[in-house]
Amino acid sequence: MKNIIVIGAGLGGLAAACRLAKSGFDVTILEKNETVGGKVNSVEADGYKFDTGASLLTMRHVFEDLFNFCERRLEDYLNIEPLQTICRYFWSDGSRFDASSDLRKTENEIAKLEPRDVENFRKYLADARRKYEIAGKTFLAHSLNDLPKLLRPKYLKDLLRISSMKTLAAHNESYFQSAKLQQLFNRFATYNGSSPYQTPATFALVPFVEFGLGAWYARGGIYEIPQALERLAKEFGVEIKLNCPVRKIIIENKKTIGVQTEDGEILKSDYVVANSDAVETYRNLIDKEFFNERLDKRQPSSSGFVLLLGVKKRYENLAHHNIFFSDDYPAEFDALFRDLRPARNPTIYVCASSRTDATQAPENCENLFVLVNAPYTSAKTDWKIEAKSYRDSIIEKLESFGLENLEASIEFEQIITPEEFENKYRTNRGSIYGVSSNGIFSAFLRVPNRSGQIENLFFVGGATHPGGGMPLVLLSGKMAAEMIRKGAGEGFGF
Ligand SMILES: Cc1cc2nc3c(=O)[nH]c(=O)nc-3n(C[C@H](O)[C@H](O)[C@H](O)COP(=O)(O)OP(=O)(O)OC[C@H]3O[C@@H](n4cnc5c(N)ncnc54)[C@H](O)[C@@H]3O)c2cc1C
Repeated sequence: MKNIIVIGAGLGGLAAACRLAKSGFDVTILEKNETVGGKVNSVEADGYKFDTGASLLTMRHVFEDLFNFCERRLEDYLNIEPLQTICRYFWSDGSRFDASSDLRKTENEIAKLEPRDVENFRKYLADARRKYEIAGKTFLAHSLNDLPKLLRPKYLKDLLRISSMKTLAAHNESYFQSAKLQQLFNRFATYNGSSPYQTPATFALVPFVEFGLGAWYARGGIYEIPQALERLAKEFGVEIKLNCPVRKIIIENKKTIGVQTEDGEILKSDYVVANSDAVETYRNLIDKEFFNERLDKRQPSSSGFVLLLGVKKRYENLAHHNIFFSDDYPAEFDALFRDLRPARNPTIYVCASSRTDATQAPENCENLFVLVNAPYTSAKTDWKIEAKSYRDSIIEKLESFGLENLEASIEFEQIITPEEFENKYRTNRGSIYGVSSNGIFSAFLRVPNRSGQIENLFFVGGATHPGGGMPLVLLSGKMAAEMIRKGAGEGFGF
């Protein structure tokens, strides 16, 4: 039986491991941290439960596909429920908007902002659906190693139909009269850690994922997902070694033959699947001769500044997911990607899973996961100095938006800075979605799932194709596992 080492127990690594073990390979995962899940992590304290990474679950069918491949039922592992109110949006002038998976309700909300935009929304969503369907046949179904195939006329015509020289922001402006709706749809660029003013209009497919396919929640918390994948992997005999950082991928004659762990142990394998951040893997785990300068130029995605707040108060004005918009969206993204500074008046995301799941907080309390997009790490921001005052400004802003007495009601608190994302998960400069999609050709520039230079080396996770976010990293695991299963074959890569 051929054996495989997976570096990292993030969702991409777990998904690849499950598929490969089900296909008859002998799989071992080596994970640096003491728990599985990577950036999908959790904190439990004083009766509160917090997901510290992902909080919004989309593309449920991708998770189902993994369980189906393993001849298991998703329902036997996870209780995944649809959210009726997808997200509640707040603006500083007091207006509020509930995005709902019931499109008539969403249209009623749109009519309150700008009646002409109801029809525009229908057209926008139809376009988003077309884009999603094309991406589903091309980018989301094929590894970038298949690029030569994707450039054949059969696919190329479709790819050109969804490619755009326009930015997402320009696209949204061309559809919606209401500046608020433009801002709302611009926000979808942040789902892969990018700026709407730089990411191509192709990403206008993302709203279809949410409005068309639904927003979901895993009862008990999103951390149930990696736990379910861990269970699935173990059922197929995957060995998971925790607290086991890898120092080096061993390469002989341009072929990987295994890894060396940080305590010096050499573990041989027929294949290596790196779920460690792909850019960091090239930087630190692979001989320098294989390092491609282009990787250094790839802009990391945004990072995140997170507050976990256990609050002894109920906030009836909150939904499960909430957005408190900034008044100047362009300034926010200039700060993030041009100045590499925390935005002064940022948009704030608050997940209160306690609104729909009583297991997440003590009675009459809320577990607030507060996330503000933050720049990837650089010398321009020292979070050790700035975290406290930034935290204060966020609490103050949330109070001004109606979360009364928030400061006085906090009984548990933890701050997570971009530096922690960088150090704990060894991500490229603390990026939370791998590389950004700022740039027209960004989708073609991700690390392919199979190395073109080093035989038997594969890459999965947010910095690889097809991108960051839970469902996409599961797809990267699928693509790598399929290539290994079918015998890697020829293809494009670097
Ligand atoms: C704050 C935040 C909010 C988010 N919100 C959402 C959301 O709402 N919805 C959504 O879908 N996605 C969201 N995401 C993104 C999503 O969580 C990630 O894209 C996804 O989980 C990344 O999976 P991955 O496979 O890339 O692995 P990672 O999570 O990056 O895990 C990689 C693993 O490799 C390990 N590792 C690294 N180097 C080594 C080494 N040398 N040796 C051994 N192990 C190593 C790390 O410790 C880690 O466990 C969010 C992320 C964050 C941080």
